[in-house]
Parts: sequence; structure tokens; C-alpha cells
Amino acid sequence: MKFQNKSWIEVSADSDFPIENIPFGIILPDGYKPQVATRIGNTAVSLSVLSDYGYFDDLNIDDMSVFCEPVLNGFMALGKKQTEAVRKRLMELFNHNNSQLRNDRGVVDNALFAISEVEMLLPVKVTDYTDFYSSIEHATNVGKMFRNPENALLPNWKHLPVGYHGRSSSIVVSGTGILRPNGQLKPNDTGRPVFGPTKQMDFELEMAFITGKQTLLGESIATENADEYIFGMVIFNDLSARDIQKWEYVPLGPFLSKSFGSVISPWIVTLEALAPFRVEGPKQNPPVLPYLQTKGPENIDINLEVLLQPLHKNPDTICRSNFKYMYWNMRQQLAHQTVNGCNINVGDMYASGTISGTEPGSYGSMLELSWRGEKPLKLSDGSNRTFINDDDTIIMRAHCQKEGLRVGFGESVTKILPAKKN
Ligand code: CA
Repeated sequence: MKFQNKSWIEVSADSDFPIENIPFGIILPDGYKPQVATRIGNTAVSLSVLSDYGYFDDLNIDDMSVFCEPVLNGFMALGKKQTEAVRKRLMELFNHNNSQLRNDRGVVDNALFAISEVEMLLPVKVTDYTDFYSSIEHATNVGKMFRNPENALLPNWKHLPVGYHGRSSSIVVSGTGILRPNGQLKPNDTGRPVFGPTKQMDFELEMAFITGKQTLLGESIATENADEYIFGMVIFNDLSARDIQKWEYVPLGPFLSKSFGSVISPWIVTLEALAPFRVEGPKQNPPVLPYLQTKGPENIDINLEVLLQPLHKNPDTICRSNFKYMYWNMRQQLAHQTVNGCNINVGDMYASGTISGTEPGSYGSMLELSWRGEKPLKLSDGSNRTFINDDDTIIMRAHCQKEGLRVGFGESVTKILPAKKN
């Protein structure tokens, strides 16, 4: 297999954004309006400008105005046939053998921006948000800590992808600072709850998929058709306040402990760009019900990394994990979400749940890395962490790599700011 096609736009060997990726996002260049864009190497390319100059005229796009919208919902709603045609057109235009755009200097000057010169905006209006709990290692670790090590998984866990409906309004783009939340805490040694800032600020290393096709109420999506509905993926940092969570979650699940901010990477990498990295998922035993059965390589080999950076210090890598560990795959999650006839929309976000591996260094949350505070992490500046301090920055990275081809997501970066005084 021959990878690494060349582009006339510079792409370094370790870039997440070679010509084979072509993700979609929303850029805000200084002095312009938000516009639909892609990224190659460290260059953002405005699809709004390319469409104005007729570069997509022969692609039978129903509505060209989608390229100047401030979110990708309209673009995604064109359907995969058209969005993939745009992606393929961009690959042609960026190819080093193609001089059409390269020599069109007026357009190049208007459409290409150094990535450092554009602000990245939240790429979608998030219509609904579901948070799954699909890593067996994470669910087992949490079950061991909070319940019984002998029966860490609850009886339903291997029969359905457990999830809950989250809050879409507080999903924000990488670079957004998040305030440490205030809430009700109940220290073990007191009878009544107290109010104050969380003392157990945590992240959850997750990936999320975004749907680009809707269903009507009453319809269900079969596992074999799920890929038609999944537009692409982003990194998802599901910030969590563990002490608030512990007190509030009974009996309906997490509420305010999870809804004060979740931070995504700005470029949506399409399912098609991720296709070369498909791998078989873990064997599911006991066998799942027929509506959840899938065939072939259901999972995706995505290397994941979390770094923690104290203020004015160097970042330390504190976790390395992989999306391929997920027990429940995205096709099963979407089939389960809709099996009761629940309708989905263009712009829905479905987070995987914390992605932990089998080794302690692969756990995807501070809760697990520090084993509920019992094993503090030592950072290279000499300080220790059991949870996240104010002014710490959490950096999540994700990329696929195979036979010389690298396709990645860039970063989700989140600085935790001191709680508001009440
Ligand atoms: Ca979560």
C-alpha cells in the first residue's frame, strides 16, 4: 500500500494533517467572518473562498451557502456523498501534481491561512449529547473503587452500552478555560453536605463521534448502517468533579458534576479518513443480543495521550491509551441509542466514555491514575497530583499511525481556572 501522497502545501512527517486526512472545522481569521475550512499541515484552507471561486461548482452541491455558515451542521447535512466529494476534490487540488489551485495565486492568497493566524471555533452546534461508558477497563476500575472488587461490573454492563444524556450547552472548543465548579460536597465524616469548589477536579479521556444524518422518531439504525450516520470524530475531554458526582449521582446518574464544561478538539476527522486504521474489537462474551451484533473490524486504532502542564512548567505525559480497547464500538452505541425509536439529529455528539487500557499508565482519568487519591502522581517539576490543581492545563492528543501514514486530531487543550467566589 502506498501512503504519503505529496502536497504542494508543506506537511511535516509528524503532522496529524497530511493530504490523506482533510478534516473539517470552522475558522475565524482576523477581520473575517467564521467559515468552513480544512487543514493540511499547518495551513487552514477556507472552503468558503474556494466555493466562491467555483472550485466545487461541478459537484452538484445542493446549497453552496453551507460553506459560509459558522457551524458545520449545514455542510454535514448535505450527506456523505457530497461531503466526501468535497473532501476528494480538496485532495486533488492539494496534490503536488495538480497546478490548478497552486497557480491561482489570487485564490491562494485569499483562501490559505497559517494555522497560527486563525481562531478555531466550536465546529458544530451540538444538538444532543450522550455520554457512554464503554471501556471495560474503566468501568472495572471504577466498580472496584466504589463497589465490590469481586463484582466490579454491574449485571447489565456486558449486555448493553451503558450511557446517559449529557448537557450539550457546555461543550466547548479547545482553548476555552474552564472554571473549577462549585457544588454540594459531602465529606465522609459529616452528616450534612457543604457547598464549595470541588476538591476532586478530574478529566476523562474520551473520543466522540458526531452524526451527520438524522432519523425520524420511531426509526432505528441497524449496526450495519451506522457508518452512514457517523460523520466523523473529535477528542473529547469530559471534565468531571468527582466529589460532586459521588454525592449527587444516586439514583439517576451524573448531573452537575459533568455539565460545567467538556472540551473537544476543533477539527472533525471523517470516518473515511480513519478507515485505514480499522481493527477488530475485543471479543464480547457473553454474546450480545442480535440488534447489537457487528461484523468485521469495528474498532479504530487511535493512539491517545494526556499531558498535564502546571503553570509556567513543562507538560508531563501522564497517560497513554488507545481507542481500540473499547468494549462497545460506535456502531453498537448508535444502534442501542436508537433501538427504542429515539430520533437523532445532524450535530449530535456521542462520547465514548473514559478510555482506559489494562496498565496503570493507560488509565484515562486522575481518579484511576491516582487510584482515588491513594497513589499521587509525581510530576517532573517535583510536585504531586491526586486531582487537577487550579491553573493546570490538560492537553489531550490523538493520532492513528500505520505503514508511514499518520492521520490525527491535533489537540484538546483545557486550562482549569480558580472557582468563582460565592
Ligand atoms: Ca464521561
